[in-house]
Amino acid sequence: MDGLVKRIEVLNDNRTTLLLVMGTGFIAIIAASILVSANFGYFLIACLAFAMASATMLGRYWCNWFCPRGSFLEFFLSKASRRKTFPVLFKKRSFFASVVAIFMFMMALNFLLLYPTYSVIDALGVTLTRLLVISTIVAIILGVAYEPRAWCSFCPGATFAKLAAGFESKRPYLVNSPEKCVSCGACSKKCMFHIDASKHGIIDDSDCVKCSTCINNCPAKALRFAETL
Ligand code: SF4
Ligand code: SF4
Repeated sequence: MDGLVKRIEVLNDNRTTLLLVMGTGFIAIIAASILVSANFGYFLIACLAFAMASATMLGRYWCNWFCPRGSFLEFFLSKASRRKTFPVLFKKRSFFASVVAIFMFMMALNFLLLYPTYSVIDALGVTLTRLLVISTIVAIILGVAYEPRAWCSFCPGATFAKLAAGFESKRPYLVNSPEKCVSCGACSKKCMFHIDASKHGIIDDSDCVKCSTCINNCPAKALRFAETL
């Protein structure tokens, strides 16, 4: 079996532990950035760098398996969420481009207001912490109102990761075998980003975070990851 595909299987087997560790780590970072030093807000930059660097080769692999905020939302909101399908607007490029623009504007405004009284490092730290807290509050509200990770469909980090991936899903490739698929649609219904995995052949969707949910819920075992095509 391909190394990358095997690694996803291992991550799958340890998913609950991984979500708990990364999600708890996220709570610790938020608490530290509010109570200890706003410079913990630089975590946002680190997370963005990891998401973009891995996306060039692996698409949104980071978002699902390692993003601390994504893990927090999935683990801690799973019981509280109403689990309603989020609006299709969340998947529109124009929408997540607008969210990025709003974030950039808020960052610039905050920084310029703080800069005269703070050093550059501290002004940026406070700005990032404020963005981290505000966006997490929005993510929690959406997670309760819709699905736990509704925020992840248009998170600015995810947008930059998709940009780094050239809006391709990258390795490992999700493949639907037409000779096995019975077109029941169970895969698409279970996908947290509502990707149509029932299409035959390669499912090349830059939203795919390679979570394996569709694979695990396919009654015909028609879906699989393949490292090469
Ligand atoms: S769940 Fe499996 S059988 Fe059903 S549509 Fe999806 S790939 Fe095809
Ligand atoms: S359920 Fe399937 S298509 Fe949807 S994100 Fe997970 S791996 Fe990708």
